[in-house]
Amino acid sequence: MTVVVRVLGTAQDGGVPQIGCGCDNCTAARLIRSRRRRVSSIGVFNPGTRRSYLIDATMDMPGQLDMLGRISGHPLPDAILLTHAHIGHYAGLLYLGKEILATRKLPVYCTPSMAGFLRGNLPWRDLIDHGNILVRPIAGGDRVELDRDVTVGPLSVPHRNEHSDTVAYWVQAAKRLLYLPDLDRWDGFEDVFNDIMKGSDCALIDGTFFSKGELEERRGRALREVPHPTVQETLGLFQRRILTDGGADVYFTHFNHTNPLLDPGDDSRDRVREADFGLAGEGQILHL
Ligand SMILES: [Zn+2]
Ligand SMILES: [Zn+2]
Ligand SMILES: [Zn+2]
Repeated sequence: MTVVVRVLGTAQDGGVPQIGCGCDNCTAARLIRSRRRRVSSIGVFNPGTRRSYLIDATMDMPGQLDMLGRISGHPLPDAILLTHAHIGHYAGLLYLGKEILATRKLPVYCTPSMAGFLRGNLPWRDLIDHGNILVRPIAGGDRVELDRDVTVGPLSVPHRNEHSDTVAYWVQAAKRLLYLPDLDRWDGFEDVFNDIMKGSDCALIDGTFFSKGELEERRGRALREVPHPTVQETLGLFQRRILTDGGADVYFTHFNHTNPLLDPGDDSRDRVREADFGLAGEGQILHL
């Protein structure tokens, strides 16, 4: 029986439609259910041990745990792993507090810096003080055996680190997956990425923006405020073999609401397909 990864969301931190936005994608998403996107997150389920894990706690967590629960048979995961302290990646922890779920010592894995952020700030500190979560720091280079078949490890990535540092996670069962939803730039990170991809079978990587101009055109905000490598840039780096996938299946995820890839009729999708990459889809299953 293989370990299963289920894609639980594929949008940037604010989801699609994004609150208060009238861009084409957000307008379409309000009208057409299939155009809506939950915030980027994945679930891991090991049928051999019946244990499940959630990577990133988003504000869409209630529906996402339902999706994970449909394959795991349990309403709650056995542990949560957090990538960083940007709102779409940890705010879902609030559902675990005494006003709502009141979980008992649910293990939450994150970096020591993220752990410090949770311990040092309300309302997160309440979750720890009330015993709802048990924060378990994992340093870069460490690994955690979540059960007899599933091991995970953090990988430091360059990202705007206002409140904590940022990591990607690799998830190793019979096969290995890399989950890398957020990074600022490939520059300086290429070797680390290429190394981890050598032994990986699939990867979900940052596809926040398709092109440099889209945030400016659709929202009047400059890309330098929220740096990410664009999908166009990333595809170019793979083409020039500066980035290599090691033969793994690579999917883009964490799409900003301005991203034309969210429009099923847009030809940006052909660029991704022609380059032999995929777009992560909600509910998608990958076997490890
Ligand atoms: Zn994000
Ligand atoms: Zn929008
Ligand atoms: Zn972020």
